[in-house]
Amino acid sequence: MTTAPAPKPWIMDIAPYIPGRSTTDDGRKVVKLSSNENPLGTSDAARAAFAGAAHTLERYPDASGAELRETLAEMHGLDPARIIYGNGSDEVLHLAAGAFAGPGDEVIHVRYGFAVYEIATRRVGATPVIAPDNDYATDVDAILACVTDRTRIVFVANPNNPTGTYTPKAEIARLHAGLRPDILLVLDHAYAEYIEGDAEDGGMALAESAPNVLVTRTFSKMYGLAAERIGWGYASAEIVAAMHRIRLPFSITIAGTAAAIAALSDRDFVDHTRAHNAQWRAWFADEIGKMGNAGLRAVPSQANFVLVLFEGDLTAEAAYKGLMDAGYIVRWLPGQGLPNGLRITIGTAEETQGVLAAIRALVEG
Ligand SMILES: *Cc1c(COP(=O)(O)O)cnc(C)c1O
Repeated sequence: MTTAPAPKPWIMDIAPYIPGRSTTDDGRKVVKLSSNENPLGTSDAARAAFAGAAHTLERYPDASGAELRETLAEMHGLDPARIIYGNGSDEVLHLAAGAFAGPGDEVIHVRYGFAVYEIATRRVGATPVIAPDNDYATDVDAILACVTDRTRIVFVANPNNPTGTYTPKAEIARLHAGLRPDILLVLDHAYAEYIEGDAEDGGMALAESAPNVLVTRTFSKMYGLAAERIGWGYASAEIVAAMHRIRLPFSITIAGTAAAIAALSDRDFVDHTRAHNAQWRAWFADEIGKMGNAGLRAVPSQANFVLVLFEGDLTAEAAYKGLMDAGYIVRWLPGQGLPNGLRITIGTAEETQGVLAAIRALVEG
């Protein structure tokens, strides 16, 4: 007889999610470039809408999320009935795993992929299957080679986190064409708004027409509303109906919803953020490239961060500690198989120049 409740065995196999830090080992507050937050803040319109919700704290939110879904549908040309919202897109990813995978099933994600996929997979007792990358980029053929009779879901972030790499529309179409129709393809577009060119709604067109595609989006990155936890997804009516069965009825707040709806109307803030990010991401990657003889390399990024590889004398671990001493927290991901890389969020102009100068100082020893 056991003496205490035993968690399901697959639960204890979950490696806990480690969030980006905002203080150093000795508790100093430093520049946080570890969570891909918007360095320009959020839209003033979103702030005002959030404050305006202060007089409805006693009310439950609208469990159908009607106003949010209708606003999103109008903006993206979608069917509001096929939109699902969540407490961040993290919740939508968990709903997908919960509705479509369970013990004995396999769920595929790439080697250097978003940590939530593995957690969501294990949480429902399914088995994660890891597809190798192609020099840090998503390799469609490698994913297709992992498919078995037990595969139920394929998670692909595009751009990917923590690599920042972008998989072109044609490659995503080839991936989709190679999957059985009973496999759910989840296209996680948390960074869609940062992609240069007109690819933003590429995956959305696939979700519109294909019965086995779920696209997820978030207000946490470009819209600068990470604190308010608003994410959403688009899929067939059948997929959405299944996810609805297991959702928490009130997973997003009135204030957060009001902020999100207002944020959608502020195109200037989005355009300004996109331009700022494109400018400083290009500058930062270029400057890292100049340290190539010291073994540094920037993985090509279409997101709001850059993965810097340390393949010379200066290790990523030493650089991580050195940057912390210099007042910058970035993301070192040995737990995700990346002991040789640092993921660095593009900050304000001052922050981005500052972290680059600190890296250069470490390289020059
Ligand atoms: C940040 C991020 C998310 C978004 O998370 P939220 O729960 O919406 O804040 C989803 N997927 C990836 C790949 C991310 O990097």
